[in-house]
Amino acid sequence: MRPFIIDDDIAAIVEEALLGKGLTDDKIIKLYSLDPNSHEAALVRQVGRDLSIQSADGKAEIHAQIGLNATPCGKNCQFCSFAACNSVRKEKIEIPKADVVEYAKIYEDQGANLILLLCTASYSFETLLEMGSAVREVISKDMPLLANTGDMTLEQAKQLKAAGFNGCYHAVRMGEGVVTTIPAETRLATLANIREAGLSLSTCVEPVGPEHTPQELAEKTRICIDSGAQSAGVGRRIGVPGTKLHDLGMITSWHCSLYVAIYRLASGLYPRLNCAGGNQLPSAYGANLAWAEVGTNPRDTVARTEKGGQGWDIGGCKERFRDSGWDILEGPSPGWIF
Ligand code: SF4
Repeated sequence: MRPFIIDDDIAAIVEEALLGKGLTDDKIIKLYSLDPNSHEAALVRQVGRDLSIQSADGKAEIHAQIGLNATPCGKNCQFCSFAACNSVRKEKIEIPKADVVEYAKIYEDQGANLILLLCTASYSFETLLEMGSAVREVISKDMPLLANTGDMTLEQAKQLKAAGFNGCYHAVRMGEGVVTTIPAETRLATLANIREAGLSLSTCVEPVGPEHTPQELAEKTRICIDSGAQSAGVGRRIGVPGTKLHDLGMITSWHCSLYVAIYRLASGLYPRLNCAGGNQLPSAYGANLAWAEVGTNPRDTVARTEKGGQGWDIGGCKERFRDSGWDILEGPSPGWIF
């Protein structure tokens, strides 16, 4: 049995993180450099959990995504099943408006705390506005409605708000501009437009693979913290067979649980919601937000992710959190509607 010894430097970083005010980049890099099986990693996981419980008063949330389409996207992000360059999807799919509205109603009835419409950057922006307006009509006025779409001008961000959206998911992804054709500056400009339009923001350090360095993880963590998002966290890349990044492999859920805990220590007690995407283990180690998914999904290749794909349902997400010692927030997620 190895002796239980905690490195003094890491112990001091964790002590500082317990204050809930976040960490500087050099300290975040040291945490991202930890062996996921070390005693230091065990300490970070537990403190991530403690801080997340404190931040959210012990209540986890389930946010619900409706994927609108699976038409080929010329932005060619090499991890995405929608990317034209990957040629992994056989069908071109647009989910009919009636189905989108029905999904939203069912999600609210099942206890989703927030609803998000996801589409490719190739999807018609006007159709996205139509879908948002239609969903807005059937969900409660205090249910946050977000969009996850391509980069946008300030005018487009304002149009989203006028159509009934309250916020957006947007991120500067890992390897942005290298494994995608979108310059990081374009993503940052969109983040600024989202804020300027008065929309709230959900973001994440994603999609993380085994090739990513502590330095890049820390750099993307800082971008997320500085964005002022209402939710953030770390999501691992799901290797979709046939995509250009598939053969680089995936990090384990165990390793990702450490990254999610590190994000909490890095950001402090804000934001309330610390996310791990569709990943099981992190709910025990600092994640307090999970996503249910229906419709199309960039992390699989089926027509509807709830039928044999990667998508979790609301019940499965709730069960995962309850099994990890969390309560579940009832009703709409607060803090997204300005
Ligand atoms: S991640 Fe988004 S922008 Fe990139 S290829 Fe997929 S749909 Fe297009």
